[in-house]
Amino acid sequence: MSYGVDTVCIHGNGKRKNVDNTGSISFPIYQTAAYAHPGVGQSTGYDYTRVQNPTREEVERIMADLEHGTDAIAFSCGMAAVSAFMELLHPGDHIVATDDLYGGTIRQFRLINEKNGIKVTYVDTSDLEQVKAALQENTKLIYVETPTNPMMQVTDITEISKIAKEKGCLLAVDNTFLTPYFQNPLDLGADVVVHSATKYLEGHNDTLGGFLVTNREDISEGIRNVLKTTGAGLAPFDSWLVLRGIKTLSVRMEKHQANALAIAQWLQNQPKVKEVRYIGLENHPGREIIQKQSRGYGGMLTFRVDSKETVYRILEHVKVVQFAESLGGTESLITYPMTQTHADVPEEKRKAKGIDETLLRMSVGIEDVHDLIADLEQAMNA
Ligand SMILES: *Cc1c(COP(=O)(O)O)cnc(C)c1O
Repeated sequence: MSYGVDTVCIHGNGKRKNVDNTGSISFPIYQTAAYAHPGVGQSTGYDYTRVQNPTREEVERIMADLEHGTDAIAFSCGMAAVSAFMELLHPGDHIVATDDLYGGTIRQFRLINEKNGIKVTYVDTSDLEQVKAALQENTKLIYVETPTNPMMQVTDITEISKIAKEKGCLLAVDNTFLTPYFQNPLDLGADVVVHSATKYLEGHNDTLGGFLVTNREDISEGIRNVLKTTGAGLAPFDSWLVLRGIKTLSVRMEKHQANALAIAQWLQNQPKVKEVRYIGLENHPGREIIQKQSRGYGGMLTFRVDSKETVYRILEHVKVVQFAESLGGTESLITYPMTQTHADVPEEKRKAKGIDETLLRMSVGIEDVHDLIADLEQAMNA
């Protein structure tokens, strides 16, 4: 059975487990660490919450269905998911990764993977030749983010998956920006999908969460063993918040997208704005690939203004939009990548990517778009 994505957000692809016979519409929060055994050598299927909890299991079911995977594993945040995934690699292994990657993932690669003897080569994965050239004998994983943060580069997932299959290595795609509402990397040949559920999935800027989704049994088993061992699973109440958030994913994503498109178009006509990067704009270089592999464009955009002074003016005068890190929630947030999300990226690399003092990133929320535009306009000209 396969429902439309809006239905899957609410019900998954089948009936939920009847855990308590009350018929409660909202799934119960199982705030328990352990479970009593019915008898010696018997289990209810739940023994200890580090391993599994009914509320976490329910959000995992919805997420696996949304990403067309056979298993989704819920973590305490996106970075916990990424770091658990890295435990499947071994000293001597090599990763090829998108160069314009989420800052936290770069930190994981630099601080932890390198210490563990896992090397990473960063390339512009929107250029397939660069990916092929970076492969080494010991390459075990290609790690892609598309579109990227903050430069909105688009990578052709299907083409990269062919390269990975030929090489015999895994392909992982961080799908945080587009969410399964707009893009399903497993259908395009990826082996693992990474999510920060803190962003659009939960959607209200009020809890952290993360997922790894896969359609490979060996990977799912490996990840579940890591989770059981290191224990960064999503807590019961947070599982419930993510579960509740996902119910409205479809309506929120449509509104985020409509607002983002209107703001991107308005920004393009502002004299102080020098460049607008939004994958929904016709002039985006990745447009063709996006239209082939995604069903929409999401709510993230990046723009460049004429000076650092304009940046400061905007950040200090916005009233509806808030100057904050993070993204994907109901509230519009504006970020200064140079000093916030990408502060840890070496200056030379950062500048080479165009992440400089005039670049701003906006996570467009679901407020009235006229209020958002009026707010940006008064801040820009304050
Ligand atoms: C936020 C984010 C992460 C990390 O997730 P947390 O929930 O903050 O740990 C990973 N990838 C992307 C693209 C993100 O935006």
